[in-house]
Amino acid sequence: MKAARIHEYGKPVVLEDVPIPEIQADEILVQVKACGMCRSDAQLIDGYFRPFADIPTPITIGHEISGVVHKIGSSVPKIAGFEEGDHVGVAPGWGDGVCRHCLVGNAHICPNVRWPGFGPFGGFAEFLPVPARYLIKADRRLKFEEVAPLTDAGLTPYRGIKKLRDAGALGPNRVLGVFGIGGLGSYGIQYAKLLGGGAKVVAFARNPDKLAIAKKYGADHVIAIKGKSSADIAKELEKATGQPDLDAIIDCAGATEMFQLGFSLLAISGHYANVGLVGDRLDVPLLPRVNREQTFHGSYWGNNIDLMEVMALAAEDRIRHTIKIFEFDQINEYLDLLRAGEIVGRAVMKL
Ligand SMILES: [Zn+2]
Repeated sequence: MKAARIHEYGKPVVLEDVPIPEIQADEILVQVKACGMCRSDAQLIDGYFRPFADIPTPITIGHEISGVVHKIGSSVPKIAGFEEGDHVGVAPGWGDGVCRHCLVGNAHICPNVRWPGFGPFGGFAEFLPVPARYLIKADRRLKFEEVAPLTDAGLTPYRGIKKLRDAGALGPNRVLGVFGIGGLGSYGIQYAKLLGGGAKVVAFARNPDKLAIAKKYGADHVIAIKGKSSADIAKELEKATGQPDLDAIIDCAGATEMFQLGFSLLAISGHYANVGLVGDRLDVPLLPRVNREQTFHGSYWGNNIDLMEVMALAAEDRIRHTIKIFEFDQINEYLDLLRAGEIVGRAVMKL
C-alpha cells in the first residue's frame, strides 16, 4: 500500500510502498478514504514535539482520518455493530482503557495514549489498524472529506467551547472572542454560535480572507488585528459590541502575540480556552489574572463523545466545511503551503 512516512526529521516525507498492516484481535483494518492535513503534521516533521516525545522513525503521518471498515478482528464484539463497508471516522486519542481518564471517557488524555499519525500507522496511507473502540460510525450523508477533518480541526474547538460553556462563561449579554480563523477557527466560529447561548461572537485574525470566512460562518463582528495595538483593538471591539473586553476567548492559534492580545482584552471573571499550538510559551502579566479572577483552560483535541456530537451535528447539516482537496502525491507540496499559512480552511487528501 501507499504510505507517506517520516524517515528523517526535518526532511520531506517519503511517499513509498509498504506492506498492508496486520490487525490485532480487538482491531479493525480501516481503508482510508480521506485524511486532513493539520499544522501538527508539519510540526511533527519539523521536530516541534521532539523535546516532549522523540518518536522513532519511520512514522506514517496523518491523524484526521475517515474511511471504510475493511476487516474486523476476531474479538471485536458483535454488539459493537461494525460490518465491512461501514463508513467510519477515527477517534484520534487511543487510551489504555483502564486509567481514571479513560474510565470517565477522556481516553485522549490517557497517560498511555497512542495517536494515529504519530507512530508506525497513520492516515496518509491506504490502510491502518484501529482499536474497535476508537472507531465512530459515520452517517452516509457525510462525505469522507467532511468526516476526516471533524476528527481534529472540527473537534478541538468544539471541546474548548464546551469548557467555556460548562464554566458559565457564555450566554446572553456576553461577548465571546474567537482567535485565529485557520483550520480550527473556521469550525470554532460555528460552534461559538451553536453553543454560545446567545453570546455575541467576534472573530480576530490577521488575514482578511480568513476573516471573510468567519463572517460567512456567522461571526457577529470581525476585527483585523495586523499592525494594531491592543488599545486600538479594544476601541474597535467597544464600537462593535458596546464593551471593550471579552467575557470568553477560544484561541485556535495559540501564538505568542495572540496570548498577549487575548489576555489584555479578557474581562473581569473572564475565561480563556486555548486549543492552538502555534507558539510554544505562555508569557503574560500575572496580577490581572489574579485580581480579575480569570481562568485559563487548556483543551486538547476531544473524546469519543465530543466526536460523536460533531459528527451528529454535521449529519444534520448544522456545520459548514471549508475544504481544499488534494492528492496523495501532493502531500509535501501541501505541507509547504500549510507552513506558509496559505491554506484557507482545511486541506484534505482524498484516496
Ligand atoms: Zn487510560
